[in-house]
Amino acid sequence: MLNSGSSSLKFAIIDPEQDAPLLIGIAERLGSANADFRMRWRNEEDKRQPCPDADHARVIDQLFQAMHEHGVDATDLTGVGHRVVHGGETFRDSATIDEQVIAKIEQCAKLAPLHNPVNLLGIKAIARKYPDLSQVAVFDTSFHQTLPDYAYTYALPYELYRAHGVRRYGFHGSSHRFVAGRAADLLGKPLKDCNFISVHLGNGCSATAIKGGVSVDTSMGLTPLEGLVMGSRCGDLDPGLILHLTQTLNYTPDQLSHMLNKESGLLGVSEVSNDMRELLRLSEEGHHQAALAIEIFCYRLAKMIAGYYLATAPLDAVIFTGGIGENAAPIRARACAWLKPLGVYMDEEANRRHGEENQRRISKDDSLNIMVVPTNEELLIARDTLALIRRRK
Ligand code: ADP
Repeated sequence: MLNSGSSSLKFAIIDPEQDAPLLIGIAERLGSANADFRMRWRNEEDKRQPCPDADHARVIDQLFQAMHEHGVDATDLTGVGHRVVHGGETFRDSATIDEQVIAKIEQCAKLAPLHNPVNLLGIKAIARKYPDLSQVAVFDTSFHQTLPDYAYTYALPYELYRAHGVRRYGFHGSSHRFVAGRAADLLGKPLKDCNFISVHLGNGCSATAIKGGVSVDTSMGLTPLEGLVMGSRCGDLDPGLILHLTQTLNYTPDQLSHMLNKESGLLGVSEVSNDMRELLRLSEEGHHQAALAIEIFCYRLAKMIAGYYLATAPLDAVIFTGGIGENAAPIRARACAWLKPLGVYMDEEANRRHGEENQRRISKDDSLNIMVVPTNEELLIARDTLALIRRRK
């Protein structure tokens, strides 16, 4: 599995039949003098290697060299699955990569100019070096291609959609799909009969309404800025505010982009951190803005869940996932406190333990079911990769 970002590359070797990956690692600060490369083989210590000025292709070389030293070569791999951010309306499912698919991913790059081109760097580097290795693209957006038009169309001149594809696409699809599948298994019900609201709360945050096993609404939009409050992204805003900032306060597009993506959300309100652990600690100590940032985060999350209740009832479960969703019991408790009118009653002890091992339930027996389900996007990418390669053979 490869996940290429602008200055990072995450990688893992996964056997979809096994829980733990054989290898997991990340190269960071690519293109800079202090780029480095960290990896961990199963049952071994972390290894760190500097790779000054390395680009994606060089990191991939270094990765295959390290694999070779561990007795794993390209011929031992069934295939390579890539995370690709934007599949536009072209990709409703994961796709086996060929020249045509690469061209289509390039076309979708107009919707994600910062992401798709770097995702393609990894794909092209592997294709050049190992042309016989099958590759699969797994898109962040494809799970949400089932949204009905009334959920994905912005109330803007329709021409913007027709001519430029301006609509809501949604992201984090692999995570929402993974936890929905896992929750269905835990409930012993076919996914197609399940209605869920899943909330992925990491640095980026999104909620998805899942009806009959498919996504029917999601909080991120044309870009990952829309929706919930995130670590440093603002989420929903008055669009008039953008006009105000540009016309009255003379913000340039670059300044706006930086502010809305990197200086807002939890960081913007608290003025101290985008990290929920840190904010919880500070709010315990009486830091007013940390507490306010948390309060806004939880209230906005609860409003989103309540809105999606309309689209999904009768609901099988609300699923919490992502770094915050899986680990931050006080955040789940605060968001759920708002949801009492929907029949949500937390089991505080189960919440503190982040859910029972077998059922992952953190609500009382007479409550709407609230679950904590750890996500595993890498495993989903590996499963899709294997399934598509098997189908072709
Ligand atoms: P990413 O979206 O980058 O993959 P993660 O899913 O790892 O991020 O989530 C990162 C967030 O999870 C951070 O805000 C971090 O503080 C929060 N987090 C992780 N562990 C805990 C914890 N035990 N309590 C509260 N927040 C936590």
